[in-house]
Amino acid sequence: MLPLVLGAQQCPSVLDPAVEPRLACFVDATPACPPDRRYCVGLQLHLADGAEQTPAWMAAELEHAFKLFAPADVGFTVVGIDAISAEFAVMHTADQRDEVGRQQFTRGVIHVYLVAQLDDVDIPGAQIRGVHWRQRSNTDKRWIILSQIGSNVVMAHELGHFFGLPHSRYTDSIMNKRPREQPPWDARVFVPQELEIVLKQRDAMLRDGSLETISSPR
Ligand SMILES: [Zn+2]
Repeated sequence: MLPLVLGAQQCPSVLDPAVEPRLACFVDATPACPPDRRYCVGLQLHLADGAEQTPAWMAAELEHAFKLFAPADVGFTVVGIDAISAEFAVMHTADQRDEVGRQQFTRGVIHVYLVAQLDDVDIPGAQIRGVHWRQRSNTDKRWIILSQIGSNVVMAHELGHFFGLPHSRYTDSIMNKRPREQPPWDARVFVPQELEIVLKQRDAMLRDGSLETISSPR
């Protein structure tokens, strides 16, 4: 785990009375795009009231995504965070997954919703750790939802979906969900065949404006 000091020095927003304490530090104390990345993509976060994700949790997700997306020359930076209603803290249904992003959707950034619990809509009683969700009435609108039970690799996996990848059967791939001992989760990557898709999708999204690069990351 990377060291993340959330003192006032490292995180000015804790001192800002206009910022909800729970939201402070998500922007200014999480790692920004690595400077060597040609493409820096913004993540707009939405934290459900009652969800327990912290800036340190988000930092770990970002660090792993940086690792996985290095060969694609893509980095990610938190550009903003807002609170969303507690009614979305526990996501039982597909309707909730549609509804959570409907109002706030914008192009150019990736919207990431942080919730306490994300139920499997196909298997009653089961929970999942994250999902890349397309609004069912307009599948061009899509976002990522992450449960607080997720490990540090979940956002990178969901970003893989965002960049066009389906689940796969490659042994070394983070997109292969088949339970297996090797390689460990931390060592799973986008295999070359997947990277090719990621690069194509990256360029397509930048071309059509569904993603924009941040020219001067903080
Ligand atoms: Zn998946």
